[in-house]
Amino acid sequence: MLKSILRLGVVIALCGGAYSSAEASNGIVTGKMRTKLKLENCGSGTGVKYPCGLYGTWQPVRQIMIRVVRASDNFELGRSYTDNGGNYTVFWTDNTGSPTNVTVNIQMRTEHGDGRFKIVPYATSSGAWTWTVINRIAVHHGTLPMGQIDWDLDPHLNVWEAAVLEWDSLRTSALMWNSYGLATGCPSGVTCNGTAPLVIFDKGQNTAGGPPVCTGGWANGWNNQVCLGDTNIGHYANQGGAMHEMGHIAEYCSNASRTRYDNLANYGLNDPSNQHGYNTAEWASAQYSEAIADHFANMALYQQDASDPWVCTATHACTAANGDFSLEAASGDCGLQNKWQINATRYFWDIYDSHMDSAEGTTDNLQAVVGNFCDAIASFPIGTGNGQRDEPGWPTINDLDGHATTDFAGHYSPSTFAQMQMNCWPQGAD
Ligand SMILES: [Zn+2]
Repeated sequence: MLKSILRLGVVIALCGGAYSSAEASNGIVTGKMRTKLKLENCGSGTGVKYPCGLYGTWQPVRQIMIRVVRASDNFELGRSYTDNGGNYTVFWTDNTGSPTNVTVNIQMRTEHGDGRFKIVPYATSSGAWTWTVINRIAVHHGTLPMGQIDWDLDPHLNVWEAAVLEWDSLRTSALMWNSYGLATGCPSGVTCNGTAPLVIFDKGQNTAGGPPVCTGGWANGWNNQVCLGDTNIGHYANQGGAMHEMGHIAEYCSNASRTRYDNLANYGLNDPSNQHGYNTAEWASAQYSEAIADHFANMALYQQDASDPWVCTATHACTAANGDFSLEAASGDCGLQNKWQINATRYFWDIYDSHMDSAEGTTDNLQAVVGNFCDAIASFPIGTGNGQRDEPGWPTINDLDGHATTDFAGHYSPSTFAQMQMNCWPQGAD
């Protein structure tokens, strides 16, 4: 009997220990992430969302995934994501440990807090990407402030900020909020690799030594992927890089069941290399498609009242000396330039901006928001006929001058006659 009582005492003591184990180790890790931004396509004057003065300065890493893992075996103990100030708060629990200190790693990954996109650096064909350890520390019960982490080792964080700028603009549209980065809409008879969220291949290199995952810059709505090419340009040319390609996805997501997506075998008018440029003639459907992608990028960089808005062509600040294009400049000789991409881009800009200008006997007094463009694209009816969603046809393209800026104008209300008149009607577009 005595032995039993003693044993009972031992059992009680064990229970006490077991109770403490069930309570586990837990706590809160807080901190702030910054990186030295080097986005080169910046703006000057008023109404700029990414001023050139930010270049090369420490700025918050926004809306990015942060997690806490046990250092011994990489087991995840909790995750959260940064706010727009780069601040994060991660609640963590280790159910297997005793209530003593646990050594953990703080990690980040280029995965968006809203689940809309992820950046895959040095990608494998599977689209896998990795967590990066940004700090390692012994934590314990209670709140542990980590302080500020300045992280200048990852150029992908430039692309990250470009993507966040684009999403911050798109999310103001109810249509984008409900569809962007979520829908894939793969047509029947087509093999798609579509995944949600949107995958951004930043430098499409294959670390395994195989061929690059992607080359050049492109967007594919069916697969919900964009590629920023295999050079450093994608890291630093935000406007013409990530933001432009995400603009293509925005157009796709505005009318997601569309069965054609910029699969233009003959992209440039009279251009056997199928390239396109701001000041080269394109087929009208290519002119429209590229210009609306530009426009979504431009709205992410500039507010309606921007005093000096530009389209950048490469990795530099936007100036005429660098060969870039002012969005407010006159369009010039419409006879030869009516199918230039930049003229369609300026047409969209004049719909959006609050700057009233008069030219060609008309006055531009429209001012629009992002959602107005998404909604107009969404209103293209299903079909392959003139002005319909799937013009100029897929897989058989029967009219490369179909699905043009003039079709957009037909679906936009109020009338954009003045804006078109000032920026060269695309002759032959139907
Ligand atoms: Zn494009």
